[in-house]
Amino acid sequence: MKTILNADLHCHSVVSDGTLTPEALAARAKANGVELWALTDHDEIGGQARAAAAAREQGMHYLTGTEISVSFIDRTVHIVGLGFDADDARMRDGLQRTRGGRGQRAHDMAAGLAKVGIKDAYEGALKFAGNHELISRTHFARFLVESGVCKDTNEVFRKYLTEGKPGFVEHRWASLKDAVTWITECGGVAVIAHPARYRFTPTEEYALFTEFKNHGGQGVEVVTGSHSAAEYVTYAETAREFGLAASRGSDFHSPDESHTDLGTLPLLPGGLQPVWELLESRIQ
Ligand code: AMP
Ligand code: MN
Ligand code: MN
Ligand code: MN
Repeated sequence: MKTILNADLHCHSVVSDGTLTPEALAARAKANGVELWALTDHDEIGGQARAAAAAREQGMHYLTGTEISVSFIDRTVHIVGLGFDADDARMRDGLQRTRGGRGQRAHDMAAGLAKVGIKDAYEGALKFAGNHELISRTHFARFLVESGVCKDTNEVFRKYLTEGKPGFVEHRWASLKDAVTWITECGGVAVIAHPARYRFTPTEEYALFTEFKNHGGQGVEVVTGSHSAAEYVTYAETAREFGLAASRGSDFHSPDESHTDLGTLPLLPGGLQPVWELLESRIQ
């Protein structure tokens, strides 16, 4: 296979909190020059068969993907899984359990919003959810924009959906160990998503990377839509320090909301092992 440079291994479809179908994402990735693509819906693999078929149709290489919500220390961390067997029951059951609490959480979020005068947010958010098992804060954000409470989803998160705000609800997700284990036991590679987003102290971040490696994690996102150019450099260094392979992904959700389009980020910095080199036998 010729060397792959333009890999985009992180994005979301209507099966989680994106606004495009797997087919529309595949077409958009191809149009933007993506050579290797992965759809990584939150806690879901329901779109994998469609995404793989669409990639084939577009003449683009494909890796299976998901982005697992994990509770670590006092916050939520995202672990991307790539190249696993999407038919393996260990992955299916693990993700189903991880998704399981989202319905009650959404009702609790709506109750918090009702206390500050925002009515019927559960029903409102549900209308935006393409998959009712996967109702997320993003769907609430879209509802609050539609109803004129905020001008954009960023403002909704800042005022209503982050820690300490009326629509925020503490939630227990998968453990780091479980997420990494499901991915690796099913033949895939686990990747720490957008590490700069967590705002951990250096000690906490060291703990995350160390435990992740101990559980069998092998990759970290270096070039992502969530990182600044300076953060590419920081996490390239972290990847080298911890002996992790590097991943690249836009985290594209929607043409209207995402500032980074599929396949348009800078290439990985030199001197790093691309994570897809660990997955050659898993590429479709
Ligand atoms: P959830 O899994 O329900 O907690 O929702 C998390 C999702 O919300 C993330 O995957 C992002 O798509 C979105 N999100 C988180 N923070 C922000 C933010 N500040 N602005 C816009 N979207 C955000
Ligand atoms: Mn999302
Ligand atoms: Mn994420
Ligand atoms: Mn994501």
